[in-house]
Amino acid sequence: MTDLTSLTIAEAREGLASKSFTARELTDAHLVAIEAARVLNAYVLETPDRAREMAKAADEKIAKGEGGPLAGIPLGIKDLFATRDIRTTACSKILGNFIPPYESTVTSQLWRDGAVLLGKLNNDEFAMGSSNETSCFGPVTNPWRREGSNTTLVPGGSSGGSASAVAASLCMGATATDTGGSIRQPAAFTATVGIKPTYGRCSRWGIVAFASSLDQAGPIARTTRDAAILMRSMAGHDPKDTTSVDIAVPDYEAAIGKSVKGMKIGIPREYRLDGMPAEIEKLWSEGAQWLKAAGAELVEVSLPHTKYALPAYYIVAPAEASSNLARYDGVRYGLREPGKNVIEMYENTRADGFGDEVRRRVLIGTYVLSAGYYDAYYLRAQKVRTLIKKDFEDCFAKGVSAILTPATPSAAFGIGEKGGADPVEMYLNDIFTVTVNMAGLPGIAVPAGKDMQGLPLGLQLIGRPFDEETLFSLGEVIQQAAGRFTAPKWW
Ligand code: GLN
Repeated sequence: MTDLTSLTIAEAREGLASKSFTARELTDAHLVAIEAARVLNAYVLETPDRAREMAKAADEKIAKGEGGPLAGIPLGIKDLFATRDIRTTACSKILGNFIPPYESTVTSQLWRDGAVLLGKLNNDEFAMGSSNETSCFGPVTNPWRREGSNTTLVPGGSSGGSASAVAASLCMGATATDTGGSIRQPAAFTATVGIKPTYGRCSRWGIVAFASSLDQAGPIARTTRDAAILMRSMAGHDPKDTTSVDIAVPDYEAAIGKSVKGMKIGIPREYRLDGMPAEIEKLWSEGAQWLKAAGAELVEVSLPHTKYALPAYYIVAPAEASSNLARYDGVRYGLREPGKNVIEMYENTRADGFGDEVRRRVLIGTYVLSAGYYDAYYLRAQKVRTLIKKDFEDCFAKGVSAILTPATPSAAFGIGEKGGADPVEMYLNDIFTVTVNMAGLPGIAVPAGKDMQGLPLGLQLIGRPFDEETLFSLGEVIQQAAGRFTAPKWW
């Protein structure tokens, strides 16, 4: 029998339906793989007992012909999603051993459809980061390495555990979240597919909040089809999240393999950065040619406010974060560090519970929201945000179906290599992805090639609001042309 962990979700679904193997066998194969890959530090909590129980329940349902669309499919869950009775920490010391008495809407929909929980996945603390180095559980290792080198590389962030686990076959798919690029950038660094849906597509209820007007959940998977399968279960209206939108969830999988003939694909000139590696330029034109060969028409477009997106994001996101993180005060959740009065207790708890990057964001956020600076920073950033959104709207109004860009300005880098002296060096990773969150649009990252050192590179497609289907159709064209990439196993 082939190694069950190497199957795609679509293949596993077939195998389970035809009784080639059971959900229990599929889960067990993953549990063995997880144990053998602890060096990657992708999981912060393994839940083998729960996994076996859920797999058994899935087998019983499948036997009765009642298996849901994800019956028996083992998944990893980013530790930002609340899981009932299972420790959820956002990879922050301040949440300590927080055990939620509730389940996030997105994960409850996955369980409703029969999926199996393998464990909780590592991420940057409160999802703040681009390399998964800010987690209180330590960094995650990318299964990919430079050819002929043992240097440990980051998997990207903040959903680094999700990307690494999917790339190393430690789960068939994973949940992730994206506030400024945290699904798409790690997907690009690990040769996986990641989609950030339109803001409002997935419920944010039960997901630890970072920047509420930007946060969205989405899947990371090994193929565009698998991402489409997971998206269908994750998406949908939820009265518990007032920003979730009541629009019917389409069968995303039906978009896989659909013709893209006649679609207009925008190539934004502002994404052509000075000093961008030639390999990324090359990949970008190659991707454009693949879409053209599939019948799409390429048009140059302009998104003039692109250069303001990153600075504006680093005002809006910390501002919202400073407000969201006010709740971690030593009273309601997890950690409490005593003090001689309540104020000192707050201070001690927050000083000890938050890591450096989170503290930096809280400080920036508090500053830009403070009286006297609010208009100069926060209000202005919001105006810039409107202009960024309008750039995209103007482009779509001209009949553009989607926009093609590189997903990241570089391939994966080494652990400890970036951002030590200057945090902006790390922030620049999100240069191609934050615009999409600022505009609330859907964006998908698809593996498209490798750099000279053998590391994966991804392309991004940005779509119209609630038109994830077009992204799946175009993403599939790229995947078909580029082929699939698997990290050589060394662990
Ligand atoms: N890297 C970005 C940040 O640090 C985005 C993170 C995210 O999308 N969660 O804010």
